[in-house]
Amino acid sequence: MGMERIVAGNWKMNKDRAGTRALVAAVVEGMQPIKGPAPTVVLAPPFPYLPDACSAAAGTRVHVAAQNCHAAASGAFTGEVSAGMLADIGVSWCIVGHSERRQHQGETDAAVAGKVRALLGQGIRPIYCCGERREDRDAGRHHAVVAAQVGEALGALSGTEIARVVIAYEPVWAIGTGLTATAGQAQDMHAHIRSLLRSQWPAEATDIPLLYGGSCNPANAAELFTCPDVNGGLIGGASLVADQFLAIIRAAAGASGY
Ligand code: PEP
Repeated sequence: MGMERIVAGNWKMNKDRAGTRALVAAVVEGMQPIKGPAPTVVLAPPFPYLPDACSAAAGTRVHVAAQNCHAAASGAFTGEVSAGMLADIGVSWCIVGHSERRQHQGETDAAVAGKVRALLGQGIRPIYCCGERREDRDAGRHHAVVAAQVGEALGALSGTEIARVVIAYEPVWAIGTGLTATAGQAQDMHAHIRSLLRSQWPAEATDIPLLYGGSCNPANAAELFTCPDVNGGLIGGASLVADQFLAIIRAAAGASGY
């Protein structure tokens, strides 16, 4: 079996209940003509619509993700949602450490480490987001920044645990800006992340999916997905429009030679 390819859609704080059901249904239907082992497709709607998404995706090839969770199992954490609660309603994936949460909620890699552990304990696959800011890249410290993020958030995991994790490299300067990393920049950072993983988990590193995120769209997806260490994408804006998201899924399927 080759490397798992994953295309995940981060809807952020968008869509309503009807829009959630319609978009999940459109993605499910649009995937019908893709025969064989299509990429793993994951959709991450806002919390209130997770049950609707789970029921619309039930029995299909589409998986449902949350966009965040809390590290604790339960308790006095007003407004928070635990990994166990997500598992309870049928959510099987969860994005953690997105740069918007780092920026607006002050989320740290130490906090994200706890979330990753909580998710793995519930059988939920974490999509761990990392990526440097513009000023980090301009100063030439982007590799060091990402190494520190990955080390702090994931460094305590066992081989069995890291094998369940997906990493999304999302340069902050590329998210929602229309400034996509070049295929060369993406491959360079993904190879860096792969070598970090290999140094700690030599047996698992080769098979850990590394997704690129940041203004990925139907026009640039195919080129990004030809990079040997780009194993799919985490898609924001383009995941809100079924035709665009499906075109990206097809690009990932094409890159696998399906
Ligand atoms: C994201 O927020 O995860 C993302 C990749 O957004 P966009 O595709 O809109 O840049």
